[in-house]
Amino acid sequence: MEFDTIAAISTPMGEGAIAIVRLSGDDAVRIADKLFKGIGGKKLINVPSHTIHYGHLLDPKNGEVIEEVMISVMKGPKTFTKEDVVEINCHGGIVSVNRVLQQVLKYGARLAEPGEFTKRAFLNGRIDLSQAEAVMDLIRAKTDRAMNVALGQMEGRLSKLIRTLRQEILEVLAHVEVNIDYPEYDDVEEMTHKLLLEKAHFVREEIQKLLQTSEQGKILREGLSTVIVGRPNVGKSSLLNSLVHENKAIVTDIPGTTRDVIEEYVNVRGVPLRLLDTAGIRETEDIVERIGVERSRQVLKEADLILLVLNYSDQLTAEDVNLFEVVKGMDVIVIVNKTDLPQQIDMEQVRELAKEHKLVTTSLLEDLGVDALEEAISSLFFSGSIEAGDMTYVSNTRHIAVLNQSLQTIEDAIEGVEMGVPIDIVQIDMTRTWELLGEIIGDSVHESLIDQLFSQFCLGK
Ligand code: GDP
Ligand code: ZN
Repeated sequence: MEFDTIAAISTPMGEGAIAIVRLSGDDAVRIADKLFKGIGGKKLINVPSHTIHYGHLLDPKNGEVIEEVMISVMKGPKTFTKEDVVEINCHGGIVSVNRVLQQVLKYGARLAEPGEFTKRAFLNGRIDLSQAEAVMDLIRAKTDRAMNVALGQMEGRLSKLIRTLRQEILEVLAHVEVNIDYPEYDDVEEMTHKLLLEKAHFVREEIQKLLQTSEQGKILREGLSTVIVGRPNVGKSSLLNSLVHENKAIVTDIPGTTRDVIEEYVNVRGVPLRLLDTAGIRETEDIVERIGVERSRQVLKEADLILLVLNYSDQLTAEDVNLFEVVKGMDVIVIVNKTDLPQQIDMEQVRELAKEHKLVTTSLLEDLGVDALEEAISSLFFSGSIEAGDMTYVSNTRHIAVLNQSLQTIEDAIEGVEMGVPIDIVQIDMTRTWELLGEIIGDSVHESLIDQLFSQFCLGK
């Protein structure tokens, strides 16, 4: 395949001391060489592949030095895109890296579309679709654990499993072909049925297993949806802040100022949390706050974990007690906050209400008890069914949808065999399952799907 040469900044904007402008395509080396002034007039054109070169980037028009650079030259096909790739390492900072990018664009490269590097890797056969999507997840991964899942997928763990399943189906289909071509052999038909059922059951079980991991995969990718509830002023926003270690939620002395749901991502000892601070689950006259309250109820319903906050220096109210009702049956950690103030709360009563839930006391003002809370969160998470990231998780929404479809078709096939449906009808369901599974690794997808997927990528990847 032939493509023009693309370029983009491939490091996060404004982060890190080094920024990289990446080029990929036939002209990558030539374009870089035009702008490069190496020691002793070294040319990039003839350097060996996979070498790095120190020098300056000049504007060829007037010889003005633009940047001090290190340039890596990697010739295809042993590169990410399988094309010639050049990486220009320059000092971070948006201004300097942009100047470098502008120069390479001026001298023949085209600005890459989002995800275009990965798309080329896919189109050039370097990676399959599930791996390409894993790169996308990797870019978006919010915690180390989610990163590991994405990495595993990128290494092809999911692809490998899918390939195995497709191979099994192909084997059956081959037998079915024989059966259809030579219907007069009774034992062939019997064998085919037996084999078909056996393999179809195996494929169904594997798909089911994969789908079971999808919930965990989602949690790893999007974070454990964690809702902070409590009546006004107990310290919900303070809790959110102290978990986030930065002050994004508004903290005030006026009750009910958290008007809507505030969302933050945090990584608590390897547990990804999507923290939601709510306006408090309670009846209120305030219209603005009502909107917040209604959304809060909605958010609550979808929560994986509830942090229920009480005030140590206040007596329990009906509202507090009601909260325990609302979160019944959910995973809850009860937090009694403001232990630095004189005690008013009846801890005996709190323990009774908390029942089997974990109970932690904190003074967020004095930064006490947060460690214990984090411990409680991580032990809750790790004592559950969720394990470290060395298994194959399915976390991609498209994969889940396709897996559900293929589960349906394989079940149709099994039912067909059991009900004595003609084998060539069963064959259709098996073939469809094979095709659907292929969509996960990109073996049978059409162009538009591919375009749609790759347009979701970040620039430079
Ligand atoms: P929210 O309405 O539940 O979100 O409560 P905020 O987090 O906005 O806190 C309300 C007030 O209580 C603020 O003035 C906080 O500084 C204060 N506060 C929060 N935690 C503590 C604590 O542990 N001790 C004391 N003394 N004050 C706290
Ligand atoms: Zn608040």
